[in-house]
Amino acid sequence: MSIADNIISLKKETDSLHVILLAVSKTKPPEDIQQAYDAGQRIFGENQVQELVDKYEKLPQDIQWHLIGHLQSNKVKYIAPFISMIQSVDSLKLLQEINKHALKHDRIIDCLLQIYIADEETKFGLGFDEAIELLRSDDFAELKNIKIRGLMGIATNTDSEKQVKDEYYELKTFYDGIKASFFRKDKTFNVLSMGMSSDYKIAIEQGSNMVRLGSTIFGNRVVKHWKNN
Ligand SMILES: *Cc1c(COP(=O)(O)O)cnc(C)c1O
Repeated sequence: MSIADNIISLKKETDSLHVILLAVSKTKPPEDIQQAYDAGQRIFGENQVQELVDKYEKLPQDIQWHLIGHLQSNKVKYIAPFISMIQSVDSLKLLQEINKHALKHDRIIDCLLQIYIADEETKFGLGFDEAIELLRSDDFAELKNIKIRGLMGIATNTDSEKQVKDEYYELKTFYDGIKASFFRKDKTFNVLSMGMSSDYKIAIEQGSNMVRLGSTIFGNRVVKHWKNN
């Protein structure tokens, strides 16, 4: 199956379930992204700032770019002019930095709080308590140039379907609680980003409305960066 075929069949599947398809193009060359674009895909995700900026400059301007990897505060300035959504917000400090640069560009930047749900040391994200503390804080209330649109989570990389299902169930439950407590009147808090190639069907069953698919669309990743290939 070609990249275009993959996009067409996955879009059909996700559209029918009212789930947004984010194409994760990290490590893949611009030509691959262009093929997905030509098949109708407009939302792409990258996990590294430099790679994202390179691709933004090379590819069609109506692409909506999402950052899905850990973001260092000192790199926010490079993506602030154009980024569509930052899915990997994992601290108040980072959110304040995003707000500062969004203000400079007279923008409001959509963000997701990344919530830690996996049973793995290496994953970034806020714990449930930390997320609540952030949303309750006076410092957060002052930020006018960011908008929290929802939550993102990455499940444990495991063969246990039950564990993945439980983790996504927990995140959906938490999302519903956050929505009811902090965003009751805000219809734009409506994104629950969970599910990757290996587990997106489980994630959708558990209530995801945005899946982040890389290898299912573009094939396995062999190199770290298209420029080093
Ligand atoms: C790489 C990545 C994905 C996509 O992974 P696949 O297994 O290739 O679908 C999704 N989300 C995040 C945060 C990623 O870093």
